[in-house]
Amino acid sequence: MIQANISKIKQKITQACAQINRDPAAITLVAVSKGRTIEQIRQAIDAGITNIGENRIQEALVKYNALGQTPYAARIKWHMVGHLQSNKAKDAVKIFDLIHSVDSLHLAQEIDKQAAKINKMQDVLLEVKTSPEETKLGLAPEDVIGVIKGISALKNIRIQGLMTIAPLLDDPQEARPYFRQLKELLDQINNLRLTTYDLQLLSMGMTDDFAIAIEEGANMVRVGRAIFA
Ligand SMILES: *Cc1c(COP(=O)(O)O)cnc(C)c1O
Repeated sequence: MIQANISKIKQKITQACAQINRDPAAITLVAVSKGRTIEQIRQAIDAGITNIGENRIQEALVKYNALGQTPYAARIKWHMVGHLQSNKAKDAVKIFDLIHSVDSLHLAQEIDKQAAKINKMQDVLLEVKTSPEETKLGLAPEDVIGVIKGISALKNIRIQGLMTIAPLLDDPQEARPYFRQLKELLDQINNLRLTTYDLQLLSMGMTDDFAIAIEEGANMVRVGRAIFA
């Protein structure tokens, strides 16, 4: 079941890439396994998944420790896709290869501090609120450049790109403008040369809208239900 689901998603990724002349190999599929069992995660890894996403630190720690005793551990990268509180930064830097949800300079400073303690360079994305919904987390687009400048002074945290969550919509086509906005922001940041390297990663698109996100420039998609449900 999980294996068939993953094949179907990979097909869709290939189709979306064909639309825009991009190499499907350049798209990272993050399997979001919140609420799923260790056994389900193992099945996903057996089916070729190498990137696992979680949205709660406690749950992620349990799964990380369980898989850490097995040969699976070396094959996977861990992604934090949910909101991260500053007081959990210490645990987060211990296990995550990429934190998608940095939404304040304060949080970035805490991540930097904890990463320095274990001599790690922590890769992160900035989460941007592209839709006006009150409930959505993330930086306002107009605050992103200031936060990047602030983070540039920190030694143990490195911004690799941007992440957004599109609003829930009846028709996934309607998510297009939000994805486009994030891509434009990434291009703008790179044109301003705020960092000594180009920001590469655009984490956008979930079960209902990942194909559209890819058409709009996503190179990292976060898929849960379409894999596990
Ligand atoms: C749960 C979650 C996903 C995956 O959502 P699905 O709709 O199950 O594909 C992606 N991103 C974030 C931040 C999530 O919390």
